[in-house]
Amino acid sequence: MNPCTLCPRRCGVDRSRAKGACGVGDEIRVGAIVIHRGEEPPLVEGAGSGAIFFCGCPLRCSYCQNSQISHLCQGRTIAAPELADFMMRLQDAGCSNINLVSPTHYTPQILDTLESAFRLGLNLPIVVNSGGYETRECLELWGRYARIYLMDLKYGDNHAGRSLSRVPDYWDQAREAISFLWETVGPLELDREGRAVGGLIVRHLLLPGMLSNPFSVLEFLAGLSLDIPFSLMSQYNPRFYQGESPEMMRGLTRDEYQVVLERALDLGFTTIFAQEMNASGSYNPDFDADSPFGDLTRLL
Ligand code: SF4
Repeated sequence: MNPCTLCPRRCGVDRSRAKGACGVGDEIRVGAIVIHRGEEPPLVEGAGSGAIFFCGCPLRCSYCQNSQISHLCQGRTIAAPELADFMMRLQDAGCSNINLVSPTHYTPQILDTLESAFRLGLNLPIVVNSGGYETRECLELWGRYARIYLMDLKYGDNHAGRSLSRVPDYWDQAREAISFLWETVGPLELDREGRAVGGLIVRHLLLPGMLSNPFSVLEFLAGLSLDIPFSLMSQYNPRFYQGESPEMMRGLTRDEYQVVLERALDLGFTTIFAQEMNASGSYNPDFDADSPFGDLTRLL
C-alpha cells in the first residue's frame, strides 16, 4: 500500500499519507454492517448474509446505488479488533457467511482482521464481493482466506468502463480476474442446506440500451465455462445516475432484460440467477437510515 498497487489503477499513492483514487487512506472505514437478504439465494440461506460495506471504491461508477459510501465515504473508521468482533456477532446471529462488500482497497487490513477473527472462532465462509476490477496479485492474497467470490463483470468492452466507471481497462482486467478465479476456485459449492460454501458467481447488472454490452459478457463467460453461475441483475435505477447519457436516465425495459436472459439460456449456462423486474424499486439503499435496505438488522 505504500506505494499502493492493490487495484489495477496502481496509482502508487502512499496511503499512510494520502488518499488514493479509491477515496480512502490506510484506515478501514465501514459504511454499514447488516444482516443482508438481498443477495443470490445460496448466499442468504439461514439468517442471511453478514454483509460489511466498506467505504471508498477503486471504480467510480456514475450510477452506483451505494454512492453514499463508495463515493462519499460516509461511515466511520474502525480498528481491526472491533471489526473482528462484528464478524463474530454476525456469526452468532446465524449468518451463513461474512460478505465483504468492495474490500479490494483494504485487502491487507482485512486479512489481518480475519486472522484475529479466526483466532476468536470465526468459521464462516468469507465472501469477496467485488466490482470485478482486480489484479491477479491482489486476488492471490485472498487465496488462504476467502472461499466465495461474488464478482461483477460490469461491461463487455473497455469503452463502457471508461465512460461509466472512469477506468480505461475494465474489460481487460475483469476478464483476467474472472479467468484466474475460475481456474483456482471453480464452480459454486453448496452444503446440504443449500448454503454456498465455496466457488465463483459472476454478476452482470444490465444497463438500459445494452450499454453494458451484455452479449459480449455472455460470450466470454460461455467460452470460459457454462458451469460458471451467472447472475443477471435487473435492479438498475436511474435515480442514482450522475452523468449525461440520455439512455442511462431511464430504467431497464422488460424486453431488454428478457432478450439477455434468453441468450444466456440459449448458450446453456447450467446455473442462472434471475431478478424480478421490480428489483429496481427494492434495492435503493439509504445508508443514513436505521435500516439501509428496508427490514434488515443493522449492527453498525
Ligand atoms: S486501491 Fe486505491 S490507492 Fe490503491 S491503487 Fe487502487 S485506487 Fe489507488
